[in-house]
Amino acid sequence: CGVFGIYAPEQDVAKLTYFGLYALQHRGQESAGIATFEGEQVHQHKDMGLVSQVFNEAILEKLPGHIGVGHTRYSTTGSSRKVNAQPAVVDTRLGKLALAHNGNLVNTIQLREELLKSNFNLVTTTDSEMIAYAIAEEVNAGADWLEGSIRAFHRCQGAFSLVIGTANGVMGVRDPNGIRPLVIGTLGENPVRYVLASETCGLDIIGAEYLRDVEPGELVWITDAGLSSYRWNQQPQRKLCIFEMIYFARPDSIMHNETLYSYRMRLGRRIAQESPVDADIVFGVPDSGIPAAIGFSQVSGIAYGEGLIKNRYVGRTFIQPTQSMRESGLRMKLNPLKDVLAGKRVIIVDDSIVRGTTSRKLVKTLREAGAIEVHMRISSPPVTHPCFYGIDTDTQDQLIAATKSVEEISKQLEVDSLAYLSWEGMLEATREDTNSFCSACFTGDYPVAIPEQVKRSKLM
Ligand code: 5GP
Ligand code: SF4
Ligand code: MG
Repeated sequence: CGVFGIYAPEQDVAKLTYFGLYALQHRGQESAGIATFEGEQVHQHKDMGLVSQVFNEAILEKLPGHIGVGHTRYSTTGSSRKVNAQPAVVDTRLGKLALAHNGNLVNTIQLREELLKSNFNLVTTTDSEMIAYAIAEEVNAGADWLEGSIRAFHRCQGAFSLVIGTANGVMGVRDPNGIRPLVIGTLGENPVRYVLASETCGLDIIGAEYLRDVEPGELVWITDAGLSSYRWNQQPQRKLCIFEMIYFARPDSIMHNETLYSYRMRLGRRIAQESPVDADIVFGVPDSGIPAAIGFSQVSGIAYGEGLIKNRYVGRTFIQPTQSMRESGLRMKLNPLKDVLAGKRVIIVDDSIVRGTTSRKLVKTLREAGAIEVHMRISSPPVTHPCFYGIDTDTQDQLIAATKSVEEISKQLEVDSLAYLSWEGMLEATREDTNSFCSACFTGDYPVAIPEQVKRSKLM
């Protein structure tokens, strides 16, 4: 999911939130929502669909206020329904709160039982709503916003990057492992106003300046007095999702002082060193494979080109394709360049293989377009384990590399050769302290323990 928050009484916060979400659209296409605070009063609008489909000028005009909280949803828990759209707005003793969550809790079964005892009528089915109710419960028991929220966060296990609006201010929070990203930006001067966004691209679009990340286990509280920081958890241990770096976040977002474009290019350079192959052209699967393909080309000296064109306007359509369209596979999204591919030995680079279904169709498409050899290079190691922290990589039995060797996968995809980036190669290209990442989908080494019951739902 994508989350956004802003405190700026002199600005049109709904519009700024809209554009922030617009830049974070890649983090979730299922639903979008904005809540604003105008004094104590909350205005909100949320619906299924893309940010540009959910909002228009008239709707944004009905969202006045000094605080904005926004969300784009990608569903991992809870069904794909309008009631599950965020921000979650909940009543408390101190007034309303509006919460936007990115990540996934792993202790929802326990948390739900606790909350049901408090007679909360859980309207939706999401873990995010449960965080909002846990805060409400603590606040209703007498705590103030900060104290109540911190108590609630101690009851949550898993991944949570949160933006929480109240009439008094906006909170930005990361779980003690900082699994999902969250950044702080500044907007204007005299007074300086603060903005929160999942990624720096959400700051760039509104002209906000990147200040720093919210740290794992940190809470920032943004009010009229500025920004104050609280270490709500005393044992933070940085475990940023490495898949954010490899695939999920936008290439123009900055993590660890560089754009992910540069990072992904380095992954591609590394796999070119590890698994070279002779060919006439190298290209990436748009868009996620492109930076790595450029890196591969730089090291191998094989010409970089484009073999597939992506329809950039394909969002989510609710109109089902016809049977014949379905048979032709993914053409709606990716179309091959026949004259580029005909008679060529091609190297196709992608960031990852999850189920292998897209990749298999792609290879078939390339051959039909005339490619005579298809070599596939993947700029990350085999995904063998499911994610429990907010990336929807299916159950383990759906993951092609969970049960198949590289050679078997290569046969199934019908490629002439297949190579994944080695684990060591990925770590070296990552440069940062390698202990500071979650990489459980490659290793099964989960940084936050998964309850047995939950494990059984996804692991073989
Ligand atoms: P596959 O061949 O496994 O069907 O698809 C691989 C493609 O899916 C890659 O291009 C990759 O960018 C993309 N991908 C990687 N991780 C995810 C994910 O968690 N969810 C979705 N929807 N796509 C992913
Ligand atoms: Fe990211 Fe994989 Fe860890 Fe999930 S399991 S948080 S996708 S690294
Ligand atoms: Mg892709």
